[in-house]
Amino acid sequence: PTTTSYRGRFAPSPTGELHFGSLLAAFGSWLLARHAGGAWLVRVEDLDPPREVAGASERQLATLAAFGLHSDEPVVRQSDRGALYQVAIDRLLAAGLAFECHCSRTVLAASGGIHRACVRTKRADPAIRLRVPDGTVVTFEDAVHGMQSQDVAGEVGDFVLRRADGYWAYQLAVVVDDAAQGITDVVRGADLLDSTARQILLQRALGLPMPRYAHLPLVLGQDGRKLSKSDAAMPVDADDPLPALREAWRWLGQAPEALTSAQDLPTLLALARAAFDPSVIPARGGRTPEAAPSNV
Ligand code: GLU
Repeated sequence: PTTTSYRGRFAPSPTGELHFGSLLAAFGSWLLARHAGGAWLVRVEDLDPPREVAGASERQLATLAAFGLHSDEPVVRQSDRGALYQVAIDRLLAAGLAFECHCSRTVLAASGGIHRACVRTKRADPAIRLRVPDGTVVTFEDAVHGMQSQDVAGEVGDFVLRRADGYWAYQLAVVVDDAAQGITDVVRGADLLDSTARQILLQRALGLPMPRYAHLPLVLGQDGRKLSKSDAAMPVDADDPLPALREAWRWLGQAPEALTSAQDLPTLLALARAAFDPSVIPARGGRTPEAAPSNV
């Protein structure tokens, strides 16, 4: 049903139940894709088995379905895509843009976690890092947050593409997959705003196109702390999707009255699609959602 080349995505990590912040990213990316007449894809980012919760990805997908949010194409899983990540790493290594790093945690801690130069301590399994030359500053425009600029060399340093334990880093996988899936618009939570410059550097190093970016307001608890998937108290209620969708709608800066008459899910989603105005999405969230327990 797509009428444009717009391709958006929602890319949850299966580290817990779908919480309100994730629902906001899912609903926001879905609304923007529908508004543009584009496609909306779901990608399971199961790259980090130690942090994974058994069955979480199936439950997240079931919850999305209960909210009426269905991927327009078969769901892909990063755990199936190691060969693609390896090709990218091999290209970067061959071009001298990435390197094997044997630095220990102790050495890295001494420079505040920012990799500057490799120290000659050999350990069996190296990490692979992208080389970030001094003075590397990345500037980009975010549709919600405006112009952004990050001194990646100074603030992040050479960053990991494959961990010493052999797992692929999020930064590498997300860039490879967004390009491989033809994603034109990355819409996600503002907690990932400061990963974006790294991802743009990787796109440049790999000769990949740069998508547009929109980072949705971060959902904070009443004490100003981010609600994360580890705040297990926070899953959205798949049996009663309307209240959480209305709340997410308000977090997206949209007029609540537009959804007032909706008594069922299909009606609510249809009204939301018709009334959605991307230009009013705020950079910062207004208030704690009703769904959030006040003790979080
Ligand atoms: N998998 C990441 C997360 O769940 C999101 C990645 C992205 O949207 O770029 O936080």
